[in-house]
Amino acid sequence: MVVSGAASTAPLPGIGGGPVEELRLLLRQGFLARAGWDSDIGVLVPDRDDALLGLRECAVVDCQAATRAGWAELCSVCWKRHKATGLTLEQFAAIPSGKASHGERPCRVTGCPRPSRVRERLCGTHAWQRKQHPGLALEVWLARPEVVPLSSYGDCRVPACIRRADDQVGLCKPHVKQWRKHQRGDPDTDLDTWCRHSMPVALGHVVVLKGLPEQVQAELLVGLQRRTDAGLRTLPTTIRYLVKLAHAHQVGSVFDLAGVRSSDIRHDAGVLLRSLLSELRCATSDPERERAKDIWQLVVFGLPGTLDFTGISQEWLRAAIKQWAAEDLPLHRGRQAAATSRDTINAATRLSESLQLSRDDHGVDAAVLGRADIVTFTNRLAYHRRTGTISEKTQLNTLRRVRRLLEDLRALGMTGHGNPPPVCLGSSPCAAVTSHGKTTVSSAAGICRPRCWP
Ligand SMILES: [Zn+2]
Ligand SMILES: [Zn+2]
Ligand SMILES: [Zn+2]
Repeated sequence: MVVSGAASTAPLPGIGGGPVEELRLLLRQGFLARAGWDSDIGVLVPDRDDALLGLRECAVVDCQAATRAGWAELCSVCWKRHKATGLTLEQFAAIPSGKASHGERPCRVTGCPRPSRVRERLCGTHAWQRKQHPGLALEVWLARPEVVPLSSYGDCRVPACIRRADDQVGLCKPHVKQWRKHQRGDPDTDLDTWCRHSMPVALGHVVVLKGLPEQVQAELLVGLQRRTDAGLRTLPTTIRYLVKLAHAHQVGSVFDLAGVRSSDIRHDAGVLLRSLLSELRCATSDPERERAKDIWQLVVFGLPGTLDFTGISQEWLRAAIKQWAAEDLPLHRGRQAAATSRDTINAATRLSESLQLSRDDHGVDAAVLGRADIVTFTNRLAYHRRTGTISEKTQLNTLRRVRRLLEDLRALGMTGHGNPPPVCLGSSPCAAVTSHGKTTVSSAAGICRPRCWP
C-alpha cells in the first residue's frame, strides 16, 4: 500500500501551508474528486453508491436516510413500515414516506434563499403567510403576486456549520434548538462562545470538516485516501463521530485523539482512529526518519506496536541501542517480532538507571566508564531481586540481554566515538551476585566469564 507521491504539486485550496504542507502534497486530485471534497465549504460528499466511502440511500421515493445495512434497500424506519404493509418493495418504495427531510433544501418560493422548515418546503415566514390562506392549493398560493422572495439571514454563525441561518439570531434551525436548550441550563452563556464550541449538524451522508484546524482536516483526508487505496471501507457516520470527538477535545492534530480512553470512544470509531493513525504514520515517516526519534512507531517498519527509548538518559547509550535495534528488527517476523528489541531496551533502561544513580556524572561520558560500573549494575539487580522489585527471571533476562547487547555492539563495530569503551568486566560481577547466594543466575547469564564493553 503505497501512496503514489504528489500526483499534483499545485496547492490544494482549503488546505494551508506550513505544518500541513507535507500532508497536502500527499493528496491526489483523483481521490479528492471521488470523496467529493469541497474545499470552499470544507465538506466531503462522496457518491452515495461508492463502495468504500458512500452510504446507500433508502429506496423510498422521498426518503434521504441511509439504508440500515450495505445490502439493504430501506432505512430502519421504512423497513419497519414496509414489514407492516405487506406490499412489494417496488410498490412500497413508490409511496412517499412523508418523513421530514433532514437535509437542507431552500424554500420553494422562487428566489427565496431561506431554508425550508415544513413539509410543504417553505421557510418559516412563507409558511406563516401560507397559513393565512388555508383554502388555497399550494400552487395557486405560490402564484399570488404578494408571495415574493425574502432576504437571506446569511450563513449559520456556528463556525463548524455549513447550513444557512433560519432566523434573525443567525443560527440554523438545529443550532437554534441546541442553543435554546443550552440557554435553559445556563442562561448566562455568551452566544459567540457557545457557537465557537458547537459541533456540525449531521446532514445526510455529508461529512463536515469545516471548523476543524487545517492540520486535522489534512490528516483525515490523507488517512482516508490511504484507507481507500488499500480497499478499506470507511463509513461517513464513523468519520463524523471522529469529527465530533475532535471538536469536543479541541485537538490540533488527529494524533491528539490517541490519548482518548477506549471507554470514551465508540468501538467502530476507535478502530477507524487506530487505522487512520497507522496510515498517517506510514504516510509522514520512513524508517530513516523514525530512527531519529526517541519513540519508534513500528508500523513504519511493517510491525505492530512501538519502541520507547525515552527511559535511557545517556545520549551515547540511547544512540547505541537505537542502532542495535535497527539492526535487530529485520531479523524477526510475526506479531512478536519486536519482542527482542523491547526486552533489550528494557534491560538497557535498567543499565541506564544504574549509571544515572551510581555515578557522579550520571554516566553521560562513555569514555570514563569501567568494570566497576557493571559490578554496580549487577549488584543493583541482585538487590532489586532480593527486595522483590524484580523476579529472578527478570534479573536473569536483564543480564542476558545486556550481555548480548554489549557483544553485539562490539560485533557491529559500534565502538567509535560516543560508544562504550573496551573495558573488561572480569569475574567480579559474578562474585557480586554470588555473594547473595544466586550463583546460577550470573553464571547462566554468562556474566561470570570475562566480558568487555564493545
Ligand atoms: Zn427510508
Ligand atoms: Zn421563503
Ligand atoms: Zn448551524
